[in-house]
Amino acid sequence: MTANKRKYTKSVIESIYSNRCFYCNRKLTDGNRAVDHLCPVSKGGKNTFENLVMCCKTCNSIKGNKTIGETIAQLQNDLNWCHDDVKRRRRLERYIHDFTHAKDLIITIKNINSKT
Ligand SMILES: [Zn+2]
Repeated sequence: MTANKRKYTKSVIESIYSNRCFYCNRKLTDGNRAVDHLCPVSKGGKNTFENLVMCCKTCNSIKGNKTIGETIAQLQNDLNWCHDDVKRRRRLERYIHDFTHAKDLIITIKNINSKT
């Protein structure tokens, strides 16, 4: 593992365990903290370190029983049907951005793990 990769891995781990939502980066408190299975238990996801992230209750309820890819598709579909409500459109666009970023981050982590 090169020094650069090590540094990058460290920053990925810090972003996950910095007491912020894995998806929207909101600060977590005792009142809004939830644990999310990246791959839902209903789809065969396990209670393993690699499959669990800390997130806020809002993102947890948006994601529900879906994978991240399914969540993005659902949000995109909601956005396609939401024409007039500007506030809701902005909120959906932000969620799509956040969940897409999280998906990219997981792909990066998997790539690093498979090379080390
Ligand atoms: Zn969140």
